[in-house]
Amino acid sequence: MAHVTLESPLSGIIGGKSAKALEKAFGMRTAQDLLEHLPRRYSKRGELTPLVGLPVGEQVTVVAQVLDVRVRRMQRRPGQIVEARITDGVGTLTLTFFNQPFRANELRAGRQGIFAGKVSEYRGAFQLQHPDYEFFDSDADVPGGAQLEEAAAKAWAETPVPIYPATTQMPSWTIARSVEMVLDALSEVPDPLPTELLRAEGLLALGAAFEAAHRPRNDSDWRAAQRSLKFREAFDLQLALLYRRRQHAAEASTPRPPGALLDRFDAALPFELTDDQRAVGAVISDELALAHPMHRLLQGEVGSGKTLVALRAMLQVAESGGQSALLAPTEVLAAQHFRSVVEALGPDLAAALNPVLITGRMPTAERRRALLSLASGTALVAVGTHALMSEGVTFYDLGLTVIDEQHRFGVEQREALRQKGAQPHVLAMTATPIPRTVALTAFGDLETLTIRQLPPGRQGIETFVVPELEMPRRAARVWERAAEDIQAGRQVYVVCPAISGGKTPNLEEGEFAGEPESASVGDGASGPGAEPPKRPLANVTDSVAEIQAMERFSGLRVEALSGDMPGPEKDRVMSEFAAGAIDVLVATTVIEVGVNVPNASIMIVRDADRFGVSQLHQLRGRVGRGAHPGLCLLMSVAEQGTTARERIEAVAATSDGFALAEVDLELRREGDILGTAQSGGKSTLKLLRVTHDGELIAHARELAGALLDVDPELLTHPGLAAMIAREEEHLENLAKS
Ligand code: ADP
Ligand code: MG
Repeated sequence: MAHVTLESPLSGIIGGKSAKALEKAFGMRTAQDLLEHLPRRYSKRGELTPLVGLPVGEQVTVVAQVLDVRVRRMQRRPGQIVEARITDGVGTLTLTFFNQPFRANELRAGRQGIFAGKVSEYRGAFQLQHPDYEFFDSDADVPGGAQLEEAAAKAWAETPVPIYPATTQMPSWTIARSVEMVLDALSEVPDPLPTELLRAEGLLALGAAFEAAHRPRNDSDWRAAQRSLKFREAFDLQLALLYRRRQHAAEASTPRPPGALLDRFDAALPFELTDDQRAVGAVISDELALAHPMHRLLQGEVGSGKTLVALRAMLQVAESGGQSALLAPTEVLAAQHFRSVVEALGPDLAAALNPVLITGRMPTAERRRALLSLASGTALVAVGTHALMSEGVTFYDLGLTVIDEQHRFGVEQREALRQKGAQPHVLAMTATPIPRTVALTAFGDLETLTIRQLPPGRQGIETFVVPELEMPRRAARVWERAAEDIQAGRQVYVVCPAISGGKTPNLEEGEFAGEPESASVGDGASGPGAEPPKRPLANVTDSVAEIQAMERFSGLRVEALSGDMPGPEKDRVMSEFAAGAIDVLVATTVIEVGVNVPNASIMIVRDADRFGVSQLHQLRGRVGRGAHPGLCLLMSVAEQGTTARERIEAVAATSDGFALAEVDLELRREGDILGTAQSGGKSTLKLLRVTHDGELIAHARELAGALLDVDPELLTHPGLAAMIAREEEHLENLAKS
């Protein structure tokens, strides 16, 4: 066989058919892709997988022994059924096959092997229909014959068997066989990591780590492999992020010193900046004036006044004719930002900066006008959604990109927008405080700034859980309380997890409700999903009707807002609510982030347990933004003691976003938190867990930093330079698409 390296395409090693199947199932193309598909767990031939509690509806892979097998005629149709029972010594699982009598010969009692299929329930018993299986005694490497030597037999029974994340088309043992072919064919694997580092950290070389992960002789083999590969994952990621950060810092960009525009704005401000706003603003102002691009992540509690900080930065950039782009995750938020930017600027400054709004759904003529003024440089501020990143948008001189609610965007998108200018400054903002480990992993190419202080005069927000099943009277009181506040001149939000019966919010609009779906590949080791709801989820359409039907709301204006409404309709509803013409706004999480209506005092969240911790924190941040105290009521049918209930109680118990972020991290899988914001162009973390590997991540970052200090261009580490180049290329391609 030709020289096989990690970059070799799989088709040349394992054959076109298997390669195609692996690409289809997991998107793998190269030897490395396959070798990085690590076993989910390790079984032993001598140890059977517990069969009790397998998740119905999921693909599982289990090690078991055939208990018995029988063949019977089908009752209603002609044909035969083979039913074999497999056991772990305690529970049983039935395998059924229709019209395949030969199965009875294969599935002889006592044989052990791996079985894979989708778990279903039939008359109270669990079964796998037409599963795939492979017996251990057909393994080529079984020490032969009936009289195994005792020692050999023992070694055989105790050798870990890798169980891979699998699909129906690609069972675990087929993956294992492909992996073996690759490992056998592979030439010596060059290790991109410096040898001294490997030695100092006690790590396996890359080739040895792959070998030990996929073909362990014992448990300590795969443990050492996991440790080594996990370290590499952390190190590669941190190195790529730090490298990028240092590259950016070394680039040249136009200095944007402050001037008269900012002074005029500050002089007209109706309030004092908070100390934090002032401090953060000073750092940003200094960095904008430098000849290198600023790359900052501004974290600040919900309602802490980040928009104002951003606007001041835009004014500073405008001084030298530079343009700013403000990117928001939803149309609702973009439209609101646009309105508040225009308003905050006042007529004179607005005329000078000529802000434009760019969204995907605006009328063509209007859009063309806006695009033209950006291309010609007559508009100095563009506010918009993802549409800002599209190809047709060009800037005359983009000096600053501001990304609001950064946690909704990924590195790729940040990069896409950055590419629209000649090294513009970047200010990313988030109101979802990010635990340090997540920040290092997902935003490691940005330096953070933090606003902890809220503007004075805020009355605070009280939060209560309303358990509808246990306390129906308290649930009824929710609506009384809402009506009372409206009588007193306030306004109320009601947020639901669904739009209408059976229709859930769409993700692209930035709406996201409920638990993440469990992964589509699994092997039974993954836990059962979220508890099924006891009734259909509360939805916007029905809630509007329900509230309107209540006597105490008669004569009041109740309106719906969801991401699937046409843009102009959303704008109308949002501006009428902002103007106080609508009393109750029933919405999806389209209002989750950034929406600012200071007169709103109550936030009612229905089926609150369907939302994540940070979502609830964001939602509650919509009230208590003005002179009136806020009240947040988290309605739920989740029972005491469940994780769902725990989560909403955590939100009710503290209003400190930073503390909640930690709770969130504990309660959720980090993949969900990182979401698309994950860095390095990879879609998922493989072995790294930001909840548990904080120290490792920080340590890897230190080592990566030290390495770059000595060799900033990685001239002596071509393997690492290549690794980083691959990631950069990936990002650039995404930015162009
Ligand atoms: P967030 O940080 O959540 O994005 P916003 O920027 O939307 O917060 O600000 C929330 C509200 O606080 C806005 O109405 C804004 O005008 C107001 N605000 C901002 N800074 C101050 C300040 N220093 N004093 C008083 N109000 C302020
Ligand atoms: Mg905001």
